[in-house]
Amino acid sequence: MKKFLIKIKNIVLHLLFPRTCFCCGIDLPLEDRGFLCKDCLKKLKKPGPFICQRCGITLKDGGAHCFNCRGSKAKHFKCSLIRSALDFNEPSRALIHGLKYEKYTNIAKFLAPLMQKTLIENPDFLEAEYFVPVPIHKKRLKQRGFNQSEILAKELSILTSIPVLNALTRIKNTKSQTKLTKKERAENIKEAFICSCPKEIKKKAIILIDDVCTTGATIEECAKVLKKAGAREVYALCATKE
Ligand SMILES: [Zn+2]
Ligand SMILES: [Zn+2]
Repeated sequence: MKKFLIKIKNIVLHLLFPRTCFCCGIDLPLEDRGFLCKDCLKKLKKPGPFICQRCGITLKDGGAHCFNCRGSKAKHFKCSLIRSALDFNEPSRALIHGLKYEKYTNIAKFLAPLMQKTLIENPDFLEAEYFVPVPIHKKRLKQRGFNQSEILAKELSILTSIPVLNALTRIKNTKSQTKLTKKERAENIKEAFICSCPKEIKKKAIILIDDVCTTGATIEECAKVLKKAGAREVYALCATKE
């Protein structure tokens, strides 16, 4: 009887709110309460098999570092390790879009276990004492109603027991980074953050959490602020890497 009632409930839900794949738009089967169809799910892939040892980007031709991170010791990156759960492609972009702009915050529950897997695969992450979400400006927070990186961090925190600390505040409402060159992005994001709780992060290892990492300029700027405020180590874990 219970099973029958659940089936009826699903049929009603399906009729009222038919679900379609966030990526290709195909109708999802009745009992599927997920976000992607089977084919699009299959297309989700983690970076690799060869990745840059620092920023985690897929290296098509192998090697240890991407062009940007080559000689990374000499370049003194403040964020020593960036890893992402997924490569940026059509389905992963659709998930991020759904989370961020269509306000399907439940997508974070789907992404967090994938990020947790990436975390476990990288022993450096295991020493971390806090997750610090990359903040958005309070004006944007008011428009959107939530910070997608904070939602991801909170879901990850449930899975890993690593606490979330909102240690950064965005003081500059930067323009969208999407149409900017790498150099412009770095300039645009400069001095956009301050550390709001230097006492708590002193000598701590921190994992920055972000939804998408593109050039890494935002993460590096956040890491710079946290290191300056006394953090021992700053890493970053993102849902996707463009
Ligand atoms: Zn699909
Ligand atoms: Zn790299």
